[in-house]
Formats: sequence, C-alpha cells, structure tokens
Amino acid sequence: CLILAVETSCDETSVAVVKDGKEVLSNLIASQVETHKAFGGVVPEVASRKHVENITLMLEEAVRKAGISLQDLSAIAVTQGPGLVGALLVGVVAATSLAMALNKPLIGTHHIAGHIYANRLVADMEYPCMALVVSGGHTELVYMKSEGHFEVIGRTRDDAVGEAYDKVARAIGYPYPGGPHVDRLALEAEEAVELPRVWLEPESYDFSFSGLKSAVLNVVNQRKMRGEPIMESAIARGFQESVVEVLVTKAIRAVRAYNAKQLLLCGGVAANRGLRRELERQCREEGIELIIPPFEYCTDNAAMIGAAAYLKWKKRQFAGLDLRAMPQFSLEEWSGQE
Ligand code: ATP
Ligand code: MG
Ligand code: FE
Repeated sequence: CLILAVETSCDETSVAVVKDGKEVLSNLIASQVETHKAFGGVVPEVASRKHVENITLMLEEAVRKAGISLQDLSAIAVTQGPGLVGALLVGVVAATSLAMALNKPLIGTHHIAGHIYANRLVADMEYPCMALVVSGGHTELVYMKSEGHFEVIGRTRDDAVGEAYDKVARAIGYPYPGGPHVDRLALEAEEAVELPRVWLEPESYDFSFSGLKSAVLNVVNQRKMRGEPIMESAIARGFQESVVEVLVTKAIRAVRAYNAKQLLLCGGVAANRGLRRELERQCREEGIELIIPPFEYCTDNAAMIGAAAYLKWKKRQFAGLDLRAMPQFSLEEWSGQE
C-alpha cells in the first residue's frame, strides 16, 4: 500500500509517500518559520498563501523522490483537521483534485492521530498504550485500548505546553518559536527560579500552564521594574522544571492506572531535551517502555499523516470528494467512535 500524504494544518507544508503505514519513501517539509518570525507567531492568511505557493511542486517532488509514479499510489491522504481553516483548505483541495484526477481513493486524516502514529514509523505499537501529546496547540494524554481507538483522558484547560514555551521565550527576549531557546537556556543554567507546579484535582489528568506562564511574566516584570537583570536562564530552568515534573508525573501515573504497555511521546515539544531525559530516566526506573520518534517526525510532517491514514486504508474507510476541512475535529469523531 502506497499512500501519498499531505499536511497543511498550520505553518508547515509537507508531502510524503509512506508504504504500509510505516516505511517512509519520501517526506518533504517546507517550514514557514522564517516568514512568521517577523510577526512573533503564525499569521493564518500568510500561512495559506505560502501553502499555495509550495504545494504543487512538493507533490511532484515527493513522488519523484519516492521513486514511484503517480499511478503506483494506492490512495491520497490529507489532514482534515484540527488546524487553521484556510491552511487546511489548501491541502484538502490539492488532495481532492489529485484523487479525482488519478481516480484513487481519498482518506481524511486527523492531525493529532498523525502525531501519535508517528511512533509507528519507528516502532511496533502495542496495545493498550498511552500517548503524551505535547505540541504548539495540544497537551493531551490519550489512551488507546486498541489500534485506532482513542480516549482523551486528560487535556490542557488553558495554554498548550508549546504555546507556554513560546510565550515565556518572548517574555525573556527570544524569537518565535521559543521552545528550543528555553530548552537550551534551561540546560545551561546554574540555578533555577522557584516556580509553582499546577496539579489540579488529585485524580485529574488535565493540565494547566497559564498560571505558570503568568508567574514567569511576574518575575520578569518585577525584575525589569527594579532595574535588575532578568536572569533568563534561571527563569527558563525554573519554568522547564515545573513543566517537565508535571508532564512526566501525570504520564507515568496514567500508564500505571491504565496498564498501558507503552508510553508514546509525540508533538513538537517532544524535541525538548529536558522532557526527554526525565521521561527516559523515570521510565527506565519504572520499567515502562518509552517510544520517542526522531525530531523530523515530532514536528509537523506528512509522513505521520501517511501512518495514521493507513488505519483507514485497512478498513477501506474512504472519504468522498466532498471532504471538508475540519478546523475543530476530535479524535473520537475521526475514528468513528461518536
Ligand atoms: P498542533 O500539532 O497542536 O496543531 P503545532 O503543529 O503548531 O500544534 P508542533 O509543530 O507539533 O505544533 O510543535 C511546535 C511547538 O513545539 C512550538 O510551540 C515550539 O516552541 C515547540 N518546541 C519545539 N522544540 C522545542 C523544544 N526543544 N522545547 C520546547 N518546545 C519546543
Ligand atoms: Mg508547526
Ligand atoms: Fe502539529
């Protein structure tokens, strides 16, 4: 099975060819980070325009690089949502047109299912398993009792982790996307500012990062007002320690409570070295199998969309040519659980 996958939900245009949901034959990614940097974040209209500029050539190039011809494809998959509506539309229109022209089945795919199934590109997934999704727009613990069955057992009630990283980075003077800067500062720091941990109710798997973000902003503002140095690395380290402790503790508690066989880490923040290290250390101690995809499959990419689309391929659940972009789209809705 050869799936051509298209991803345009946010600010990366990506096209991939994936064999049997796990072997990546090509995975092209055009990041718009440099374009959006000047604005301090993603500008939706600009993102759509860039996708339009990139997509056609990338479709051709992905097929060429995979060493196949368009007729060899089994299906065309595209991210339906969640994401920016104008950005999603570019991918949906491109994929739909291609499916129509080639007379191939079309598969609507869920962006977060993609982040989760990125793990299938590097390891065999065993069920039941637990995924910790940490990205620019999501922070979720997702329990999977079987393939393609999703239960979101915890989610952020306010900011996503990546979003909090980006806001903290901006407050201490670093450009978008700020996560990697905060990560580096945190690991270099010799001391840490003491910051709160937000656990919510004792049984809850939900998260909250806006209070922590405000605490950081308070420290920065107070120091600025007093004319003191901001000491950004100590702030970065304090912030990262708080985030990591809460994420790791809740993820491991969830793995235990649900008897999950594996813990899967995914989403752009999975690139965070502080988080990876602490998760690796504690999983080793607790005897939990941990899977973390390589960096290129953690941030937005179409290979992961090809991996998730394979679930639908196996069940022959194809979309009509009237496939719609779904800016709001739950995992349960996508998998047909509701
Ligand atoms: P979503 O998948 O929820 O729609 P998104 O696709 O925009 O959101 P990703 O591309 O998966 O998000 O991840 C981008 C986020 O990851 C940014 O917020 C960025 O700051 C963060 N990030 C990247 N590297 C690191 C790092 N080393 N430490 C912390 N955060 C990081
Ligand atoms: Mg992105
Ligand atoms: Fe993403």
